[in-house]
Amino acid sequence: MEIKNKVVVITGGSRGIGKATGIKLAELGAHIAIIYASSEDKAKDVKEEIDSLVTNCKIYKCDVSDYREAEKSVSQILKDFGRIDILVNNAGIAIKKEITGMDEEAWDRTLDVNLKGMFNMCRFVVPIMLKQGQGKIVNVSSLAGRNGGTLGIAYASSKAGVIGLTQSLASELAEKGILVNAVAPGPVYTDLVSGLTEEAIKTLEKLSPIGRFAHPEEIAHAIVFLIENDYVSGEVINVNAGRYMN
Ligand code: NAP
Repeated sequence: MEIKNKVVVITGGSRGIGKATGIKLAELGAHIAIIYASSEDKAKDVKEEIDSLVTNCKIYKCDVSDYREAEKSVSQILKDFGRIDILVNNAGIAIKKEITGMDEEAWDRTLDVNLKGMFNMCRFVVPIMLKQGQGKIVNVSSLAGRNGGTLGIAYASSKAGVIGLTQSLASELAEKGILVNAVAPGPVYTDLVSGLTEEAIKTLEKLSPIGRFAHPEEIAHAIVFLIENDYVSGEVINVNAGRYMN
């Protein structure tokens, strides 16, 4: 799919990987709808940066885990832009707890944002793409979804769920012109890992074959590839410098 002039919805576009993806897609000529949860100032900064690239950017405050809020935001985006061509389901949280310390609230919140949030967005965006006869969806999973990991069981479980959601949607929608894929990044230098101790970060950096985390732009690059390619669907691309291969 040519990205120029397409309308992209990016959840979690105020920071980290979502921000880098929004900027990269805007540089390629896309119009961007950014969904954020609470960082209004950061979302406004991203909008300002994208507006300076000539394309159009609007920001929407929405908790993706809330079914009705997701419906309202998608409907507003459609009103504002007239169409939705691409959905990047990127919003995510990590509540790092091991099984003995994991309470019900932390488990539910993680699954609600990371997995139900993607379902909610797909539930309302897919009918629009079906009417248009085409669309691209890229979901952000994680190395943790394939291999467990340091951010705890709820996080890893939600990200494994994202892979199931991606593959299931891909088989439902390919014949209708909508291709659905995921990226599974290893650790990335963003706020999400800011809860890790310096020692944990150093240990994780050593686990990477190239000795460092990814930069958000390197994940954005893989997301752009999945949008541009018209023959890949149901795929999960590892972006982890070869730490885990499958
Ligand atoms: P980040 O810097 O912490 O940014 C998270 C983004 O998600 C923010 O824009 C945040 O909005 C948004 N968000 C959080 N909860 C939300 C909700 N309920 N509704 C709507 N938006 C919500 O994280 P990141 O590292 O860029 O992570 C982006 C994605 O990559 C996540 O799905 C994460 O699991 C995945 N990932 C990250 C890593 C890593 O090491 N960083 C590795 C693998 C996968 P506000 O700014 O308004 O809070």
